[in-house]
Amino acid sequence: MQSWTSLSVPNYKVKVDSKVRIWDTEAQAIAEVTETEIKLYVCGITPYDATHMGHAATYITFDLLQRLLMIQGRNVSYVQNITDVDDPLLERAIRDNLDWRDLATKEIELFKDDMSALRVLPPQHYIGAVEAIPLVIKAIEKLIDKGAVYKIDHDLYFDISSDLNFGDRSHLSIDQMIEIFAQRGGDPTLVGKRNKLDCLLWRAHREGEPSWDSPFGAGRPGWHIECTAIALEYLGSSITIQGGGSDLIFPHHEMCAAQGEVMNNATFAQYFMHTGMIGYQGEKMSKSKGNLVFVSRLREAGIDAMAIRLALLANHYRSDREWDDALLQDATDRLAKWRKGFAKPEGPEIEATISNVVDALNNDLDTTKALAHIDSWAEKAIADSNSEKNSKLSNTGTLARFVDSVLGIAI
Ligand code: ZN
Repeated sequence: MQSWTSLSVPNYKVKVDSKVRIWDTEAQAIAEVTETEIKLYVCGITPYDATHMGHAATYITFDLLQRLLMIQGRNVSYVQNITDVDDPLLERAIRDNLDWRDLATKEIELFKDDMSALRVLPPQHYIGAVEAIPLVIKAIEKLIDKGAVYKIDHDLYFDISSDLNFGDRSHLSIDQMIEIFAQRGGDPTLVGKRNKLDCLLWRAHREGEPSWDSPFGAGRPGWHIECTAIALEYLGSSITIQGGGSDLIFPHHEMCAAQGEVMNNATFAQYFMHTGMIGYQGEKMSKSKGNLVFVSRLREAGIDAMAIRLALLANHYRSDREWDDALLQDATDRLAKWRKGFAKPEGPEIEATISNVVDALNNDLDTTKALAHIDSWAEKAIADSNSEKNSKLSNTGTLARFVDSVLGIAI
């Protein structure tokens, strides 16, 4: 699938010791990302509704990580999927009397427009579940060869006991896993399962559902194997960072990693990185609760997408946090302040500011501190009545290029 339009971003490079540290969910500790070739896989949306603030916060976080690695000379290969066939999409299409393909196409286009407006760099490979079906079939065949697959009627299930490390990435008790599995689309009580947590690999054709031919009969892929198959096809047998919202830790990322490790006998991902949930009016923003704030609606209402991005960067990516009008207003005011400061032909010295911002971001993406350093530079620039006298030396332009390169904020 075509990724969204590439953005023109200044090729800014900083001369610093590159010490990017992130919180690794599997290790439950801060880890230093030492690799120079970064293989980043971030789980994409199921396109049955528009992009809400929770999605935007996640993709902006991984965009920030990618930019931070790039300005420090690392090479990032970024792959994202899009689950363009799955139960929620089919259910919404039936509810709204739409063809599921038309619904997916419409929402994918809207998502791409939102990402471009938010200055999220497009992944090198943006892969849909439908186009990945041959990869899924190949992955399931590999799991069959390892003896990790069994049938219930005509559906295929992954036997989690084939992964000796099952559970290591999510740190939950068996009871917690079963409870969350049931809440997030799993079927722990299904008769015929070897283990309650075994997950669906291939759903045999049902009346009224789309299906594709396969050596195991007509059907469609399960969600977890879709991401395993795409990640391993486009990034090799082991990836550097598996990312997504914290609601994907279990079962999705546990299952993806378990399947990948059984397939290849190799570590699926070096690090697992997860973003906090965005709440609205006291509850987690989610489609099922219907309490959504959409990026596209705010943009239609004339809100600057850079203010939306700044609002989502204002607090730490791992914290569960609220979206509200005050957050957006603060970000709008901050953007105006930055633009006023950057409009000066020359501002205060920038080297310490750049170094402080990089240090803050290297420390598990501490955006709160990073933005405060730009605030203080902009405030000094606005207050400095001498800053317009020497217009030959424009350090302001250099700092603006840095801000665009790493924070993704076009001044
Ligand atoms: Zn995924």
